This record gives sequence, C-alpha cells and structure tokens, in this order.
Amino acid sequence: MKLRCVDCMAELAPRWAYECQACGGILEQVGNDGVPPFSFGEGQTPLIRAERLERALPGFKGELWLKDETRNPSGSFKDRLIAAALGRAIATGVRGVVCASSGNAGAATAVYAARAGMPAIVVVPAHTPPNKVTQIAAHGAVLLLVEGNYSRSYDLARALAERHGFVNLTTTFINPYAVAGLTAVGRELFAQLDGVPPSHVLIPTGSGPLVKGVWQGLKEAGAATHLVAVQAEGCAPIARAFAAGAEHVTAWSTPETIASGISDPLIGYERDGSYTLRLVKESGGLVLAVSDAQLREAMFRLARLEGVYAEPTGASSVAALQQLLGGGHLAPGSRIVCLITGHGFKDGGAFQEMPVRTHRVVDPEDTAAVARLCEAAIEQGEETSLSLGPGVLRSLA
Ligand SMILES: *Cc1c(COP(=O)(O)O)cnc(C)c1O
Ligand SMILES: [Zn+2]
Repeated sequence: MKLRCVDCMAELAPRWAYECQACGGILEQVGNDGVPPFSFGEGQTPLIRAERLERALPGFKGELWLKDETRNPSGSFKDRLIAAALGRAIATGVRGVVCASSGNAGAATAVYAARAGMPAIVVVPAHTPPNKVTQIAAHGAVLLLVEGNYSRSYDLARALAERHGFVNLTTTFINPYAVAGLTAVGRELFAQLDGVPPSHVLIPTGSGPLVKGVWQGLKEAGAATHLVAVQAEGCAPIARAFAAGAEHVTAWSTPETIASGISDPLIGYERDGSYTLRLVKESGGLVLAVSDAQLREAMFRLARLEGVYAEPTGASSVAALQQLLGGGHLAPGSRIVCLITGHGFKDGGAFQEMPVRTHRVVDPEDTAAVARLCEAAIEQGEETSLSLGPGVLRSLA
C-alpha cells in the first residue's frame, strides 16, 4: 500500500499525510495493506427497489433503486470513512482524533471514538442542526461550535490536529485512509444488482469523497456507470463550474440551504471540488443542483411512498430525479440508483416545517366522530406531493 497524489502522481510510503508535499494535491490510498477498519456494523446497507416512487415520476420507464445509507450505526454513510481511518489510527498508536464536520462526520467520530475509548475533538458550525449537536455531545466528544460556514471549522480542525498530535478524521479529501473506506459503496452496489450495473447513480455531494468511492468501486468492477453529483442550489460550487463548462471549481461565498450535510463552500480547498468534477466528467455524468422546495418534496415522497426517513441532504438524490428525467438523460430501461445518505432523525426540522397531518382529539370517548375523522383523513392520504397545494395536508380537526 502507498499514498499517491491524484495530480502529480508523486508517491509516498504510508504515514499520516494530508496533502502532496510536491504540489499540495489530494492524496489517495493505492492498494491495501490489510489494516482492518474499526468496525461497528457499518456498510452492507440495503438496496431497495422503489416501485411506488417510480410510478410517481411521470414519464419514467426504468428501475429506481435506493441505497439506504441511513442504516449505518450513527445514521449516515460517514461511519464508513471513520471506521476505516480509525482502524489505521489505532494500528499506528495515535492518541486521539479531531474532526471538522457539518454534523454527520462528527457524529460518526463521536460514536466510534467512544467505542475505541479514544479522545475526540469535533468542530462544527454553530448553526448545525440541534439533533446532530446532541448526538455528538451524547457520545462524549469535545464539541466546539464555531460561528460562520463549514470552512472555518475545517481550518480550526487542521490546526488542532497539528497542536495535539491527533489524527485529522475530517471527511473531505484530506484523509486518504478515510476516503478509501467508501470504495465499498460502489462494490456493494455492483454485487447487490447481480453484476448488472446501474446506468446512473445519484449522489448527494459536498466535497465529493462519496463520488470517488462510488466511481472507484464501480470502475474496479468493470461497470460503466454515469455519476450524477447532486448539490443544493444555495451552495453549489461544483454544479456551477459544471454548468459553466469550467475545469476548476471556485468557492461559494454564502451558503444558504436546508441541506446542512452538503452545505460546504470549499473555501481554501477548492481543489476538492475540481477533483470531484473531474471524476464526474470521466464517468460521462453530470452535476445538478436542487432547490429547498425540491428537497422538501423529496423527503416527503420518500417517507410517504417508500417508508424511508431522510434528512434534507439525504433526500437530495431523489430531489434531482425530475431534472435528470426532464433533461432527456434517461433512456427507457435505465437502471437508476439514488444514495440516501443521512437519517431523518438527524434533522427533522424540515419535516416540522411541513404541514404534517395531525388531528387533535378532544373527546376520545366519541369514537364515532373520531372514526369519521379517520375515514376522511385516509381518503386524503393518497396525496403524495407537497406541490398539490396547501389544502392537501391541512388538519381535519
Ligand atoms: C457528508 C455528507 C454528504 C456529502 O458527502 P461528500 O463525500 O462530502 O461529498 C452527503 N450526505 C450526507 C447526509 C452527508 O453527511
Ligand atoms: Zn502532487
């Protein structure tokens, strides 16, 4: 096993290094020396056919599958990265770990560090969704809340890792051992589809390690799959560069989206975005951006039609389906996979903003009246789109 720069191809013997000494480029792990991940049941997540969602997509003539990464121990695919890098941290005798996060990587770090009995410092933006903050704190990590966007947390984590002599588990492209833990996503997809690879995989995308994992896993299996990286309109540095036909990604100045997990402006590590753009283009894929309204709609449909409870970021892949379809990118018979990356428990706020149907029962002994109310509600229950208008979900009470 060795580390290699994805830009100048310089090689390094394995050690804790976060960028190429020669050119400052991203390092990747090449080969495997058998250091085991520090496992806690991450990975091997279900791939489920989404037939009701298929029927709700006008004009779609193919298969739609969901890779449910919410089933990982801490509720997001970030467990895969942390398990891989923490395994190496333990094998090399490090004292502690640091992680900058928009919430989910921090939660994964806190969970796995608790299991390993290792000190962890987690740095998150002060506006991180409260349930993610609670989850990180519950597991005993030292939790630092930093004003401003994610890139400021990123910088602080780098500095703290150096000062404490801790390993930096931040899940951008900074830690090659963590990123290597994602190749399994592509491999699992291929195996779960019995070797008939998907035509497109839609991937919620911040800086892009998950794109790399899917790309590499499928490529190693010999699959020619188009990758569709999905960003939020309110923070879409990679989608903007793609639309402009640019090769290099520039940072996003003021992120504003309900998709906290991909609200990464890439300030100071724009090269992560450029690398991700390169991989997407190599796959013959594209980068799309979705609005907050489309994210809410996708969360709602996943919950109603498929029983999958996703946070806004986790539903962004589904939110982009209509656009992909409308763009004429899908031949009949296409086999589409949407990655559902994060659990709804982590950020139910967006659901609370939706007019959910609840009914206040004043007199529970009047079962006839309550039964009438239920009948009426069940009749309305077929509605599966928020865009049908505000009346649809109004409480009947
Ligand atoms: C981190 C995260 C992403 C983005 O992953 P990248 O590999 O940084 O592009 C997507 N969804 C969720 C829920 C996340 O936590
Ligand atoms: Zn280099």
